[in-house]
Amino acid sequence: MQNPDLTVDNEARSSGRIQRANSLAGDVYEAIFAQLMSLRIPPGSRITVDNLVKEFNVSHTPIREALGRLEGEGLVVKTHLIGYRAAAQITRRRFDELYELRLLLEPAAAAKATAALDEERLATLREAAGVMARRVGKDERLRYANFARQDAIFHDKIMEFAQNELIRETLSHQHTHFHIFRLMYHSRVTEEALDEHEAILAAFAAGDAGAAERAMRVHIENSRDRLLPAFE
Ligand SMILES: [Zn+2]
Repeated sequence: MQNPDLTVDNEARSSGRIQRANSLAGDVYEAIFAQLMSLRIPPGSRITVDNLVKEFNVSHTPIREALGRLEGEGLVVKTHLIGYRAAAQITRRRFDELYELRLLLEPAAAAKATAALDEERLATLREAAGVMARRVGKDERLRYANFARQDAIFHDKIMEFAQNELIRETLSHQHTHFHIFRLMYHSRVTEEALDEHEAILAAFAAGDAGAAERAMRVHIENSRDRLLPAFE
């Protein structure tokens, strides 16, 4: 591992060979994910396995594994006989459709989830929001990528607690968070969202379904407005 973006924790380093292999595959995946999210690998560009093998100083196997996983997440596209490329940026039309879908489903789900929240579930949501707020690690790209993933988890957990699996799957299959965070690599995208998440959590903690619905609507509308300049 020669790439400075990669973090290998001590536990993984000191553990056995199989665990090391798992950790290596995971690290390679995280590194490529971060490069895609932070636009270091530009949308639509070709991804060459041999180049990544050289960059990360690993064999083909973890690279192919990582690319396969990213393909499943809609971030990488594989074309027969041509190879891999980064998924193209979503279009303005798809962006509008995604936000229309989110605004129809997520505020109502937040209201519904309020009634289903107990201390344990609230703690799960606080943990997801807390991980996003932590400014640990030197690498901005990794931090941005982690934020995108954690935001996806935060919103998905709320859908889970709202207890409509069909709605949850519908949103999850769009990989919304990965696509929208990839529109722009900017700290404003993450900083402002933190306060909005706090407002949602406060409404949940107060057991106020109406406030949770409003806070979620405001968060999604603001998120849309923050990312709109990407299309200018
Ligand atoms: Zn969010």
